[in-house]
Amino acid sequence: MSSESYWLDTAPAFGLGQAGPVEGQVDVAIVGGGFTGLSAARALAMKGARVAVFEAGRVIGEASGRNGGQCNTGVAQDYAALSAKLGPAQARAFYQAYEHAVASVDDIVRSEAIECNYQRNGKLKLAAKPEHFAGLATTYELIRREVDADVELLSAADVRDEVDSDQFHGGLLQRNGVQMHVGRFGVGLADAAARKGALIYENAAVSQWQANAGGYQVHTARGTVQAGQLLLASGASQVGDLNWYRRRMAPVGSFIVVTEVLPKEVLAKLLPAQRSYVTSRIIGNYFRVTPDNRLLFGGRARFAMSSPRSDAKSGEILRAALAQMFPQLAKVRIDYCWGGLVDMTADRLPRAGQHNGIYHSMGYSGHGVQMSVHMGRVMADVMDGNTAANPWHELDWPAIPGHFGKPWFLPLVGAYYRLQDHLH
Ligand SMILES: Cc1cc2nc3c(=O)[nH]c(=O)nc-3n(C[C@H](O)[C@H](O)[C@H](O)COP(=O)(O)OP(=O)(O)OC[C@H]3O[C@@H](n4cnc5c(N)ncnc54)[C@H](O)[C@@H]3O)c2cc1C
Repeated sequence: MSSESYWLDTAPAFGLGQAGPVEGQVDVAIVGGGFTGLSAARALAMKGARVAVFEAGRVIGEASGRNGGQCNTGVAQDYAALSAKLGPAQARAFYQAYEHAVASVDDIVRSEAIECNYQRNGKLKLAAKPEHFAGLATTYELIRREVDADVELLSAADVRDEVDSDQFHGGLLQRNGVQMHVGRFGVGLADAAARKGALIYENAAVSQWQANAGGYQVHTARGTVQAGQLLLASGASQVGDLNWYRRRMAPVGSFIVVTEVLPKEVLAKLLPAQRSYVTSRIIGNYFRVTPDNRLLFGGRARFAMSSPRSDAKSGEILRAALAQMFPQLAKVRIDYCWGGLVDMTADRLPRAGQHNGIYHSMGYSGHGVQMSVHMGRVMADVMDGNTAANPWHELDWPAIPGHFGKPWFLPLVGAYYRLQDHLH
């Protein structure tokens, strides 16, 4: 069994990185070579800016190359709850931001001709308990009325035709969701940014920066550069001078297993529509079929950080959950098991804008494949003076009380969510 991400293991290598030291002057320095940083670099280069991306490891080596490969419309949290909290107009705007985000991915895939098994198969949210179906029905009514006429409510019997498992009590189908090979997409995005003139430095962790008359002096593991503007596309990384941001997000481990290649007949019976699937529990699961006919099955198996030991333990929990949901797959071999960090904000909405003159976009809360790509483009406009382009610009961002940079409270949050799943 490999502990590498399936996506990274089956993607081509990125070969257009910069050799030699980091030096000289650029208009924009970007910290982080995930989807946010690469998409921003591409968009800024298209505007004619001299832009450099500094990536601590390899491009898309973290969340962008380690996720579930689901690129869905709709908000991460329950729409009815969001609408009750923020009001219909704001909830609608945030919902639509995710539609715009999927459209951004679509546009980049097409205009850069990225071969990434891009398919609009939709997302099906599965009710894990009868009472969850009632919740999905309320959400369905509201979404249909307020923001998206293209959703569908599926009964338990309809869902049995979609998913060959007896565990579900109905579902909510959002037809515009997309899935893709995120490794191939990410390398295609990095290639596109480099071809448009962005300088991409791998193994170039940014340790610190100092403001000066010309902008920022940015110190990396491969040298120092002078940049007019600075964009943090790093997430709540433990590398570098990011404590202000760390205190505002909880990085939670999310884990994935991928099976051996399954016979086409087995998959045709198991998941005939090959959508992206998520279950309705708080500590739930997500799954989809890979381009080469494996089942990818993930979840927030444990409230812990990702590490080789943590990933392996989580892999066992996921294997058991997979066997419970699909007893017919209890004996399949698991070929990949890995983990990654999801940066959760307190309200599960992203944060983007400026703090002390430095730009940032992060905190996608597990719903960031589409939004990170989109926000890269949006931040290029924001850094060009168009603040209103940023759908999140009016959100404040207080520190999480008691969070001083290391998320000591994760086991408590996990215990609380497990209790909620048990009770509701
Ligand atoms: C297991 C898992 C499953 C997920 N599943 C889904 C899904 O199915 N659908 C969905 O929509 N979202 C999903 N997500 C979330 C999604 O992957 C992320 O929101 C998105 O990829 C974030 O992109 P990013 O570029 O902002 O961050 P990242 O991809 O994490 O990139 C940040 C980069 O910054 C670099 N970096 C950090 N600090 C420094 C520094 N000081 N100097 C230089 N470089 C630095 C890191 O090495 C990293 O490469 C999942 C995430 C995980 C972990």
